[in-house]
Amino acid sequence: MVCENYTKIRERIDAACKLSGRDPKSVTLIAVSKTKPVSMIRELMEIGVEDFGENHAQELVAKTEEITEPLRWHFIGNLQTNKVKYVVGRACLIHSVNSLRLAEAISKESVKKGLVSDILIEVNIADEATKEGIAGDEAVSLVESASRLPGLHIIGLMAIAPPVDDPEENRPYFRSLRELAEKIGALGLEGVEMKELSMGMTNDFTCAVEEGATFVRVGTAIFGERSYPMQGR
Ligand SMILES: *Cc1c(COP(=O)(O)O)cnc(C)c1O
Repeated sequence: MVCENYTKIRERIDAACKLSGRDPKSVTLIAVSKTKPVSMIRELMEIGVEDFGENHAQELVAKTEEITEPLRWHFIGNLQTNKVKYVVGRACLIHSVNSLRLAEAISKESVKKGLVSDILIEVNIADEATKEGIAGDEAVSLVESASRLPGLHIIGLMAIAPPVDDPEENRPYFRSLRELAEKIGALGLEGVEMKELSMGMTNDFTCAVEEGATFVRVGTAIFGERSYPMQGR
């Protein structure tokens, strides 16, 4: 079932690309496997899926210890600085960098491990009080400060749009994330490449693709409802 679901989502992404004149290869579908068992991940691996998303450091550690095949694990959750050591070197990309303090912790751990970590800056695009992420107008200065840290490569922005009934309601947010990335990219900061936009989930990924997403993060539509509520997200 997960494979059929995945294939259907992929087809809808490809159709959205076609509609907006984009190359389907420019959009990576991340299968958000948080709370879901390794057996489901293995089903997807059999059809060649390599990009998975997790939002808890412990779960990422457990799954990467069990699955040793080379996969791309995306860290998409709120990351506490004391958990950074578990994620640096395991995740191919940390999507959720929302403070200078966190960027500094990732920088320090990356230098210690002799790595350069790819990161995205998480923007609170709808300015929701309950969401993590930095306000749009503060994102520029966070990118500037983080770009001066060693061991980091800032490759774009990420946002979690609000839950809505009609995905069209989120289109302006996706568009504004893209515009913000363009604005930051135009600054030409060293160590910064604004080439990736991580946006769009189960309910709104087609809109996000039409507005320029390069990573969509889809959980429920692939794996089904999560059986226990996540703390926070
Ligand atoms: C859980 C989660 C997703 C997937 O959400 P679905 O609505 O199940 O597709 C995407 N992004 C983040 C950051 C998440 O925590």
